[in-house]
Amino acid sequence: KNKVLDTSSKDLTPSYDWFQTDHLVTVVIYTKQKGMNSEMVIVDHQDGRLRVDSILRDYSYLLHIELSYAVQEDITVHIAEKVGKVEIVLKKKDNIPWSKLGQPLESHSSFIKCTDRGLCYRRCKLVSKTEVTHDTKLFCLMLPQSTHLQVPVGHHVYLKQIIAGTEIVKPYTPVSCSLKSDFKEPSHHDSTHLILMIKIYPNGLFTPELDHLQIGDYISVSNSEGSFKKSQVQTLEDLFLLAAGTGFTPMVKLLNYVLTNVCSLRTVKLMFFNKTEDDILWRNQLEQLALKDKRFEVQFILSEPKKEGTGKQRKISSSLLSEFVKRSKKDSKILICVCGPAPFTEQGIQFLQDLGYSKEEVHSFTA
Ligand code: FAD
Ligand code: NAD
Repeated sequence: KNKVLDTSSKDLTPSYDWFQTDHLVTVVIYTKQKGMNSEMVIVDHQDGRLRVDSILRDYSYLLHIELSYAVQEDITVHIAEKVGKVEIVLKKKDNIPWSKLGQPLESHSSFIKCTDRGLCYRRCKLVSKTEVTHDTKLFCLMLPQSTHLQVPVGHHVYLKQIIAGTEIVKPYTPVSCSLKSDFKEPSHHDSTHLILMIKIYPNGLFTPELDHLQIGDYISVSNSEGSFKKSQVQTLEDLFLLAAGTGFTPMVKLLNYVLTNVCSLRTVKLMFFNKTEDDILWRNQLEQLALKDKRFEVQFILSEPKKEGTGKQRKISSSLLSEFVKRSKKDSKILICVCGPAPFTEQGIQFLQDLGYSKEEVHSFTA
């Protein structure tokens, strides 16, 4: 009668199992978590080693095994979202029975905080490089066939290069190939390629080396990181984006996501800060999107306008923000996202705080 249900003893540590047919080996991970999706599972297979990282809120469950026998390059990942079951299907190279899956490798079966996991890199092939502006390019990287990695909205990856004998790592935020003005299912291309919009600094350490990569060359790309959560925009009514220079990059996937998935959304306004008109990224696409989707508006602010008559020199300020950020109705649910050079982001956050916006209403993209 007085029985108390003890949920604390319920073991929430994920577990795994495997089974085989003549041709296939299927590894199953029971995450014990509802609402799993494709972005929460990162699979790599390199040199006979299988690595599956399942991201469960702030925790990571790792399966890391030296497989008993060789498997083919193409690996399939199925996720039963509701029950939190992950299935990885491997194709045997030789159709012989396996007596065991393989040997455990470093950190196999560990369940630790994501922040303690460390980054994992795989080599990706540069398949195209296209100009966006005089100094910014789109780099399209192809993931290996044996990798399953989807970068969530608002998250970034790290690129790694050896420069003058030293390993250098810098963060970049993947974008979509365009700003979509019509609803589209995510294409196959989205899950097999990463598109990065990168400004080349002639005096920079990393980007000139990146610019020297030729089509067909390889570069190391990490898993993604980031604090942005889709739940921040789930029932959103008004979204304000403050982007400066390449701080525009996280806004690309975010715009595509909210305009196609958030039905409560009434207005999305982007204030895009650049030095000159020539520096504006995807201006034409932004203007086209504003014409097609009445919820979306864009304003360009120049800090070093070249031509006379293109308006006065303007930078982020309290008065600019108080005019720009306005709720579409009293008490509407809003979010203001800020991204750009550190001083820009810091000033933006301060001005918004002074204008009375709460911490939950402001998100800044940082590493
Ligand atoms: P750096 O060597 O860092 O130099 C950059 C500029 O600063 C150069 O003009 C250089 O001359 C000048 N400089 C360097 N040191 C000094 C100094 N001491 N004093 C004065 N000037 C100096 N960038 C993108 O293009 N696209 C993205 O999607 C993107 N995403 C990012 C995501 C995150 C989370 C973060 C934190 C940054 C992101 N960045 C992005 C920026 C990127 O990580 C690099 O900082 C950028 O590419 C510059 O790298 P670099 O090594 O070539 O230049
Ligand atoms: P930029 O130097 O061309 O400047 C763009 C605009 O930012 C300027 O026109 C001005 O309006 C504003 N600005 C620049 N310096 C400022 C300052 N000191 N105070 C106030 N406003 C200022 O920009 P860029 O070279 O394209 O650099 C973009 C920056 O965004 C980089 O520092 C990069 O690291 C950062 N970034 C961050 C993320 C992220 O954190 N997720 C993603 C992409 C880019």
